[in-house]
Amino acid sequence: MDVDLAIVGSGFGGSILAMVARRLGLRVALLERGRHPRFAIGESSSPLAGILLEQLGDRYDLPRLKPLAAFGAWQRAYPDVGCGLKRGFTYFKHDAGRPFTAAPDRSNHLLVAASPNDEISDTHWLRADVDAFLMREAVALGAEYADEVELDAVEWTAAGAVLSGRRRGAPFRIVSRGIVDATGPRGFLSRALSVETRSFDGYPGTQALFSHFTGVARCDEMPDYAGAGARGERPPYPVDDAALHHVFDGGWMWVLRFGNGVTSAGVAVVDALAGDLKLAEGERAWHRLLERFPTVRAQFADARPTRRFDWMPQLSYRAAVAAGPRWAMLPSAAAFVDPLFSTGFPLTLLGIERLASLLESGGFFDDPASLETYSATTLAEADHTARFVAGCYAGFPRFDDFVQYSMFYFAAASFAEMARRVAPERAAAGFLRAGDAEFASALRSWSPAVSGHEPGMLADGVRRAVEAVNIAGLCEAKKQNWYAADAADAVAGSAKLGVSPQTVAAALTALGLGP
Ligand SMILES: Cc1cc2nc3c(=O)[nH]c(=O)nc-3n(C[C@H](O)[C@H](O)[C@H](O)COP(=O)(O)OP(=O)(O)OC[C@H]3O[C@@H](n4cnc5c(N)ncnc54)[C@H](O)[C@@H]3O)c2cc1C
Repeated sequence: MDVDLAIVGSGFGGSILAMVARRLGLRVALLERGRHPRFAIGESSSPLAGILLEQLGDRYDLPRLKPLAAFGAWQRAYPDVGCGLKRGFTYFKHDAGRPFTAAPDRSNHLLVAASPNDEISDTHWLRADVDAFLMREAVALGAEYADEVELDAVEWTAAGAVLSGRRRGAPFRIVSRGIVDATGPRGFLSRALSVETRSFDGYPGTQALFSHFTGVARCDEMPDYAGAGARGERPPYPVDDAALHHVFDGGWMWVLRFGNGVTSAGVAVVDALAGDLKLAEGERAWHRLLERFPTVRAQFADARPTRRFDWMPQLSYRAAVAAGPRWAMLPSAAAFVDPLFSTGFPLTLLGIERLASLLESGGFFDDPASLETYSATTLAEADHTARFVAGCYAGFPRFDDFVQYSMFYFAAASFAEMARRVAPERAAAGFLRAGDAEFASALRSWSPAVSGHEPGMLADGVRRAVEAVNIAGLCEAKKQNWYAADAADAVAGSAKLGVSPQTVAAALTALGLGP
């Protein structure tokens, strides 16, 4: 088989890139070690991921991709592709050995809405369904798909890259002008090209344990959580229809509900806590964790795992280089930090957008410098994300520090989403504004991982640092950690986007959201 592009790995990243490459007229092979449908972790989307999907769909004439960008359209177009509702980001702070009770001043929880209604809401992706669907879409567009392929080696010849291995016991060989590695961390090209591994500077060692469950209770049906506010107000969205986080010293747990009654849950913890919990023991460690946090234990009292527990002894990963002449790793193959803030989807989609434009211009095949730039940008964004997540872990013990510091993410993400709609040049600073020197420097210096801040200075420092991109009414003490998605905030922030209030209002109206 001779092709222009061999994409190794058919997770959503590999399949979406295959769809784009087919639309660009390239001959594409999509090579998968496993078989669909199969379990995959990494399930929670975000507003930035949504707009990236939408824009890839528009730019490369992939209308069938676009319904995955929002809950309502997804339900109408693909009711059989499993999905959950993600209206926002919910955080509860727990102390070991003590039941959680929502504090009247809301100081032990944070609710940040990502969307004002279910229709345009973000989603959790049941990856077994979504990845199989996207692989079929790539095949329908003409990608040559081969599963159960075990590749052993790559050899570069005058004709291109020769990938060789075995498929179902028989020798397998393919010649391709270029290769994209979409196999995830420590994946195919890392090994085949012996790419060195680098750790993230100052980043703690972390581990993860996760599974899928049935019977997980909703927090808003449990008396201790933030169901109704202290003054009887309703939270900005149903707290469970969200990426729900239980945060504690040394780590956090995610709880993501799908529409089919299954809930994804898992923990990411620093090595010391992983050691205490004996995370390697899987399900027994899970129960030890629940024992520490009585209110989380109550939420899981009737929960039953639907599959085995997966333990990841080393959660973060960073390759020394992410691309070379005629080859590239997707950001998800080049690096991974942590599931916190769902950074994996948008980073992967940003990488797809960048590689798509290199495939479109031909630079992927004949301009090695453009791939060097791709590599540097990809790794710089991963490093920047790792710095931010390290700051969040350091902030967990003093929950208010975490809350204040998290505003870097929420401000940058909401700004990027709206900028992509109305002022694309303002979105060019990259993920989490990694390319905005002032923002990046403030994110570094205000990190709770950096000691030396005067007590109480963090909130004000972060508020000033994000002011130029705060178009979501963030950092307002009077909101007491409850942030609704309010169209009026975006309209009021139009000058920060360099456009008129009418332009922002028109973009919101197009989304069905009049201010
Ligand atoms: C514990 C955890 C939780 C996460 N949670 C989130 C989240 O909530 N939100 C978020 O945005 N991101 C999350 N992520 C990150 C997210 O998983 C990735 O960004 C996403 O899966 C990337 O998709 P992908 O298609 O590029 O790669 P993957 O999903 O990793 O898919 C890789 C594919 O390649 C195949 N493959 C592997 N090796 C080979 C080989 N040698 N040859 C051929 N095929 C191969 C695999 O079988 C698989 O099909 C999480 C990650 C982890 C580890």
